[in-house]
Amino acid sequence: MKPEISIEFFPPQTPEGIEKLRKVRGELASLNPQFFSVTYGAGGSTRERTFAVVKEIAAEGFDAAPHLSCIGSTRESIREILAEYNEAGIKRIVALRGDLPSGMAETGEFRYANELVEFIRAETGNHFSLEVAAYPEWHPQARSPKDDLDAFVRKVKAGANSAITQYFYNADAYFHFVDEAKARGVDIPIIPGIMPIAGFTKLARFSDACGADIPRWMRKKFESFGDDSDSIRAFGLDVVTELCERLLKGGAPGLHFYCMNQSALTTEICRRLG
Ligand code: FAD
Repeated sequence: MKPEISIEFFPPQTPEGIEKLRKVRGELASLNPQFFSVTYGAGGSTRERTFAVVKEIAAEGFDAAPHLSCIGSTRESIREILAEYNEAGIKRIVALRGDLPSGMAETGEFRYANELVEFIRAETGNHFSLEVAAYPEWHPQARSPKDDLDAFVRKVKAGANSAITQYFYNADAYFHFVDEAKARGVDIPIIPGIMPIAGFTKLARFSDACGADIPRWMRKKFESFGDDSDSIRAFGLDVVTELCERLLKGGAPGLHFYCMNQSALTTEICRRLG
């Protein structure tokens, strides 16, 4: 059976960005993704823009999955958003806690993602298929790996249908996480999140912040390329394709691409994977 892929976008800020994303979507459509997901800005900052992109994707006939984060939100505001999505025919949501934007002190009426999953189930039953986040290298704020796994299991028990991981470059971390989750009775698919590598400096900074490890051998090699972007791209494509091959061979049920609103790298990786 062919593994399913899904692809993530962020909602563009400008009319040019929206136009460019339409083109990118057209190119990525040839990969037959199971769904396109659209991120949601911290504290609801992209609420309208996320909804607009999601509606466009759905109107084009694709399965569109909005991300929805709950930190800083009230039950009433989440209820409104669920009603909007319900009305727009949306059937899948990526349910997250999110991070409080700097300067925003009010945590709102939800503390963790499991509370959002519970709330969505209580309000809308099984209307939405719910994806939650998983962290094979552990969430940066987790008190311990065990606490983080407990938190993940809580989200699953609250009614998640599937999970998407933070990106990582250590396949063993993913396999270890899946084994531990299974040992705790988790039987939903845990889809690896894949970050194609377009450049190194930004990726390194972002990875430090979100707790994704770039192994030393990769880091050193990228650093040795300096600003030779062709070599960075070529090496990045090789390592990410090999990672995907290993994950799929080892039983990963699919791949979720963080495409950063670009089509070339995701398309090339999928072409190489056949
Ligand atoms: P949770 O599962 O609630 O976990 C957050 C932290 O709290 C973890 O450290 C966990 O161990 C801990 N925790 C959980 N429950 C408890 C408890 N009861 N007591 C103590 N500690 C607890 N961010 C965005 O802003 N917008 C997006 O669109 C977005 N999309 C994402 C998509 C994916 C696939 C992933 C992996 C991440 C995404 N993020 C997004 C980032 C995410 O919002 C952050 O990683 C956030 O810090 C955690 O969200 P969560 O849903 O994993 O939180």
